[in-house]
Amino acid sequence: MSQNRYSLVATAATAILAAALLLTPAPGSPVTAAPISQGPTYVYRVNAPLGPTTDKLLALDLDVLEGRDGNDIFVMGDHATGVRMRAAGFAAVIDQVLEAPQWTPVVRRWQADDATLTAEGLQPLAEETFYGGYRTVNAQYAHLAAVAAARPDLATVYTYGQSWRKTMNRGGYDLRVICITKINPGDCARSTSAPKPRFLLMAQIHARELTTGDVAYRWIDYLVNNYGVVPAVTNLLNTAEMWVIPIANPDGVDIVQQGGNSPFLHRKNGDDVGGTNCGETSSSQPGVDLNRNAGSHYGGASTSTNRCSQTYRGTAADSETETRALEALQRSLFADTRGSGDSTAAAANTKGIFVTMHSYANLVLFPWGFNSGVRTGNDAKLRAMGQQMAAIAGSGWRYGQPGQVLYNASGTSDDWLYDQLGTASFTWEIGPNSGSCSGFLPAYSCQTGTFWPRLQPMLMYAAGKAAAPYA
Ligand SMILES: [Zn+2]
Repeated sequence: MSQNRYSLVATAATAILAAALLLTPAPGSPVTAAPISQGPTYVYRVNAPLGPTTDKLLALDLDVLEGRDGNDIFVMGDHATGVRMRAAGFAAVIDQVLEAPQWTPVVRRWQADDATLTAEGLQPLAEETFYGGYRTVNAQYAHLAAVAAARPDLATVYTYGQSWRKTMNRGGYDLRVICITKINPGDCARSTSAPKPRFLLMAQIHARELTTGDVAYRWIDYLVNNYGVVPAVTNLLNTAEMWVIPIANPDGVDIVQQGGNSPFLHRKNGDDVGGTNCGETSSSQPGVDLNRNAGSHYGGASTSTNRCSQTYRGTAADSETETRALEALQRSLFADTRGSGDSTAAAANTKGIFVTMHSYANLVLFPWGFNSGVRTGNDAKLRAMGQQMAAIAGSGWRYGQPGQVLYNASGTSDDWLYDQLGTASFTWEIGPNSGSCSGFLPAYSCQTGTFWPRLQPMLMYAAGKAAAPYA
């Protein structure tokens, strides 16, 4: 990551525009005003081998990124962040300088009905994009509706909950999931007695991890466009259900997309209770980290009680509406085959598989995340599948429990699902640590040219494991 792929852009005109926007907020503007100026944002490379040194760094409550390069891990923050790390004895060197947000809003940033055209009446919402081609929340949802309308024999869309802002009557979004299969009676029901095994793919629980939402979008199209065309896809949809949540955290993505061509690096949800003074930078922002909020070993490694922290875990386990809705959906899809105890195995005939996509480190992770010193009862099978996934992904990918290759993390969605129901659960950290297509905001061309060719066979492999992952 030696090259500076971003340049610092903070023109006077931008500041004036931002000031004007703050004085006269447009309809649908967030209630919380963002700061109009800030110093540059850095990605620091910090020498922190796995173990006590990493734990010490995590205890500083910084924005530690989901990437590791040998003994180095990466921390995002401002000048003061670097001062703090050096004061604590860490060798922290600036690895990248990120472009300052320009506070240019996308044309639309409030929820609209899927069938509505844009204000100009020119484009359907499905074509609403930002930063070179990434779909907005509206576009993702319009896509789901369009697929279900075009192929009712293959696709069903559900609303499984509401975002925090929507529950507070502050804009916000529904939470949506699509089920894709060759629909026979009883298929795509929200019941654990449904006849076909399930693969649940989830994207953008961390809003700023843009690649994940795009992979979900392509996976949906790949499935519906290739049924009856590609035998492997036809067979898959005849025998299994493919569930996809393209955006698990739509309020967060709404904040990200308001940056337009300089997307905001918002990671958490939109719950700003107690966080309205956090600002909106990469290292300090309101919201709850939905991937630290789940009620499995809640409050442990890599979580924070600081509301502005990137890993703020919320006021209690499962405090967030997005977390509870996801867990209720998962309980409706996957039968409980595990029982209690950290080392109790789920039954060998357990069905179903879950992949939650993140960025970036080229890693395949599996439980337990809360403590890499503890093995699940299904460790051998999970580890073997993780090895296969990493091998399919190709050079540069590794696999392991989070604490073996990245850092321990508790209250995550994959730990929760395995913990509660025994479902085979994986995290994919998509994207290299450095060079072309690294970072949270890869150029959109990376999606077609770099990521999708690797992800498509990984997804087909995972989907094929839905029937009997522990067999
Ligand atoms: Zn993430």
